[in-house]
Amino acid sequence: MVKLAEFDNFGVENMSGEEFESKQAYVTSKCMCQGCPSYVEGDAPIGYCLPLIGTSKNIKYEKDCLCSKCPIFQEYDLTHSHYCTRCSQVCQAYKSEIGGGHE
Ligand code: SF4
Ligand code: SF4
Repeated sequence: MVKLAEFDNFGVENMSGEEFESKQAYVTSKCMCQGCPSYVEGDAPIGYCLPLIGTSKNIKYEKDCLCSKCPIFQEYDLTHSHYCTRCSQVCQAYKSEIGGGHE
């Protein structure tokens, strides 16, 4: 049985709300989304790779994705892309592991 914790690159499973807010602020400060061709101006919150942020309500078209060049991507060993449209790292990892069915 695959456990979500195995994909918890950001270690959010046991975080308090305060710790999560601090992690979100850190991720957001490094996030490169606002310079990405796919990004729609004004969309927030960014840092779509982080769990609980959710996909963008405004970004509908996937163009380039800068995630693989982002310091957060390197720091947390992320493996996916287009988090704004496809969902967070944990969500995409879980989907690819079980073959769909998780949002
Ligand atoms: S990996 Fe992508 S979504 Fe995550 S912080 Fe970097 S640019 Fe933003
Ligand atoms: S998640 Fe990737 S595709 Fe989406 S805005 Fe950020 S860098 Fe661009």
